[in-house]
Amino acid sequence: MMDKKISRVELPDDVRLSTIAVREGLPRSQWGENSEALFMTSSFVQPDAATAAARFANEEEAFIYSRFTNPTVMMMERRLAAMEGTEACIATSSGMAAILLLAMGLLKAGDHVVCSQSVFGSTIMLLGREFAKFGVETGFVSQTDVGAWRRAIKPNTKLLFAESPTNPLTEVCDIGALSEIAKSAGALLAVDNCFCSPALQKPAEYGADFIIHSGTKYLDGQGRVIAGAICGSEKLINEKFVPVMRSAGMSLSPFNAWIVLKGLETLSIRMRAQSEAAMKLATWLEQQPSIERVYYPGLKSHPQHELAMAQQGGSGGAVLSFIVKSKGDAAQARKDAFHVIDSTQICSITANLGDTKTTITHPASTSHGRLTEEQRHAAGITQGMIRVAVGLDDVDDLKADLLRGLGTL
Ligand SMILES: *Cc1c(COP(=O)(O)O)cnc(C)c1O
Repeated sequence: MMDKKISRVELPDDVRLSTIAVREGLPRSQWGENSEALFMTSSFVQPDAATAAARFANEEEAFIYSRFTNPTVMMMERRLAAMEGTEACIATSSGMAAILLLAMGLLKAGDHVVCSQSVFGSTIMLLGREFAKFGVETGFVSQTDVGAWRRAIKPNTKLLFAESPTNPLTEVCDIGALSEIAKSAGALLAVDNCFCSPALQKPAEYGADFIIHSGTKYLDGQGRVIAGAICGSEKLINEKFVPVMRSAGMSLSPFNAWIVLKGLETLSIRMRAQSEAAMKLATWLEQQPSIERVYYPGLKSHPQHELAMAQQGGSGGAVLSFIVKSKGDAAQARKDAFHVIDSTQICSITANLGDTKTTITHPASTSHGRLTEEQRHAAGITQGMIRVAVGLDDVDDLKADLLRGLGTL
């Protein structure tokens, strides 16, 4: 047991999310800085050899070396954990590094994972291909079919992995139902909360054991850094992940942690503004004659609209997709989608999301370009599909920007 721990910020017990987002972290240094300090240092000087020994032996919690942790990184970890409503958090160098750490910490050869087939492409590659090399088997199931998750459970299932909503179809999974399945199987549930962030959805409230983040997206919120994190109980983070981090070193740089730390301060107002704009844009898109279908959880036409509203604090999030009306074969649909994308003068043509700048992308030839046409078809991603991640651009300007192409199809 740790005798001495790093002290905490003193806040009243009942403070709300917005206050936590600007206050939680570490106590101020002796200089009394109001904005959090950026500790760009690889290591920390120890007062004497005996204290160094106690700290290396984990008898005393203190800063030793920035591969283990760093004050700026810890501020970000504590703030994000408090916002997700979990005891602890461990920051990583990217969102994928968080999933790598999750798998390294929890799995061994002979273990089985059940994963949604609609999760982020690199997650499918990491679990389905890279970890298969080490004898970990992953079964992929339908995001929305709770029965399929239940049927996929095996005696050696250790982990369930979901993401909600997904990219680009915005499919929503029932986190509470998956948590029940995990519990009765003696397995743990991890939920990638990238698309909603704790401003809209707190998977821990529905029983998720781990919350995965790509800090690259809404947590930074301005497209500046690559970062990631796992949130969960103090016991599991300390037992399963801290030792792996120490040995494997997928650590977050203090500078990138500082960017995310300051990004968290404005997360709620950004998410609210961007989601409201996405709702307006989705409603407008649904009325356009050149559009066949809009995918957005905030719309009544979305198959899991009610579940999404209950789980995501009444918000659809800020990402939507739509399909341009078919005038021919797949090649024609692709040409039409490219025309809409290339006619924009405001939207950034980039696959990133979670930025204040609205981004537009063609999933079939970018994020899902490595899939075969059959795999893409099974995933429901067609050549006429366009994804928009709504930022803080004026929504009327965005409508006009999309109309340049939609109106001239
Ligand atoms: C981007 C993303 C990731 C990976 O995060 P990186 O920071 O790019 O490594 C994981 N999951 C989801 C849902 C994402 O959108």
